[in-house]
Amino acid sequence: MKLQTIRTLTNLATLRKKPVPNFQFECRRYFIAVAAIVLSLHVAFASSGRAAERSWRAGVARTKITPDGSYWMGGYASRKRPSEGTLQDLYAKAIAIDDASGSRVVIVTTDLLVITRDLGEAVKRRAAEKYKLPPSRVLLNCSHTHCGPEIRLYRGSLHNIPTDLARKMHAYVKQLEDKLVKLVGDAIANQKSARLSYAESQAAFAVNRRNNRAADVPRLRKEGKLIGPVDHSVPVLKVTDAEGQVVAILFGYACHNTIMSFYQTSGDYAGFAQQYIEEKHPQAVAMFVMGAGGDQNPEPRRKVEYLHQYGRALADAVETALDAPGREVSGSLRAALAEAPLEFQPHADLGTLQEQTKSSNQYERWKANFVLSELDAGRRISRQYGLPIQAVAFGDDLMMVAIGGECVVDYSVRTKLRYARNGGPAVWVAGYSNDVFGYLPTLRVLQEGGYEGGGHMIYTKFPGPFTDTIEERVFETLDRLVREMGPQP
Ligand SMILES: [Zn+2]
Repeated sequence: MKLQTIRTLTNLATLRKKPVPNFQFECRRYFIAVAAIVLSLHVAFASSGRAAERSWRAGVARTKITPDGSYWMGGYASRKRPSEGTLQDLYAKAIAIDDASGSRVVIVTTDLLVITRDLGEAVKRRAAEKYKLPPSRVLLNCSHTHCGPEIRLYRGSLHNIPTDLARKMHAYVKQLEDKLVKLVGDAIANQKSARLSYAESQAAFAVNRRNNRAADVPRLRKEGKLIGPVDHSVPVLKVTDAEGQVVAILFGYACHNTIMSFYQTSGDYAGFAQQYIEEKHPQAVAMFVMGAGGDQNPEPRRKVEYLHQYGRALADAVETALDAPGREVSGSLRAALAEAPLEFQPHADLGTLQEQTKSSNQYERWKANFVLSELDAGRRISRQYGLPIQAVAFGDDLMMVAIGGECVVDYSVRTKLRYARNGGPAVWVAGYSNDVFGYLPTLRVLQEGGYEGGGHMIYTKFPGPFTDTIEERVFETLDRLVREMGPQP
């Protein structure tokens, strides 16, 4: 509408420069032009009035998920003892968004290392029963903080977690599931009229950890010689109520939450970013959406001061985006979810497995023993894996893509290249969503090898590294989802 008004004014300006044929004619043309402005303003106001009437509805809720007392922490295989105190509490937060027709999506963000497949499926199943939300309408994301609880039950035997703490982990996971289901309901119950706007800014502390040695980062950064793909964008969705009060701020970043490896509970940089944003906007819930930061580390790290420094840097980037004019988000909500059929390479042969049971590496022994016990029991190790991929379209203004696993940053870069178009929807890529089973390399990273390429498989129950179909399977599935959602009707 604004554009139309500007065009009309431009026409008027051109008109004024033209020679005047006669007064009456000029008056008539002038009247027509003024009428056009009045009409277009009227249409603009009417449509914004309509937008306000038929606007979004949004509700937020939060719940504390810090485990009680001491617990086994997840994230570093090197951990040898339980947690020791809390630097910062952990939270799960949810936003339930409805479009004008009542079509609904609920996004849940958590200060957790992972969302396991079991947890993700259980929450989605119960949300479907209780709130009539299909699985495609619930998006679960985790910050991947390494200073929170271990919730992958199979890791009890992998890390030799003491029995009492393993039991505590089981109880925590059950409780967590209940909390997340209730959280979804609370967010729905809190819904009221809202406006959404989207903007993007940047934060530069993420470094490609495969391409730069941690010790060299300060020097390389100073010399401008850091290499490897990164995605420094900070996507921000601002949700305001009918009074113009900011009620929710969703923001993303593609970087591991691995500043600290100590034994105190914290949400890492993302926890502090959320805290700082909420201090500045006490009426709002700040929600961190982890991006495709599988191969990205905050560098330098391992000092508590960096928690504050990077938390502040990200919070400041979010403020910049909040202050920007932003893109008003309007239209209908569409969502789609499917599993990309990924394949693993076969496990090692029997001789190698038997050899590995005598390895000095505890994880290699664990893995070999697991595979052998499955084979002894007559079970085959599946070489297929369904990777959940989800897409949510907010009108024609924003498309959020949520990929499972610890997806490396190439997925973010390539998804944007593939779908971001001038004048098309902004594309927001979340990783670590719905099922964080382990690393999701691209073909390049798979072929390069290393930890994210396949080395991490030793900590999982999967047979071998992925096959080289991995990246095309992800994008085939994503293409299908985007087609399924279609353009704004
Ligand atoms: Zn990780």
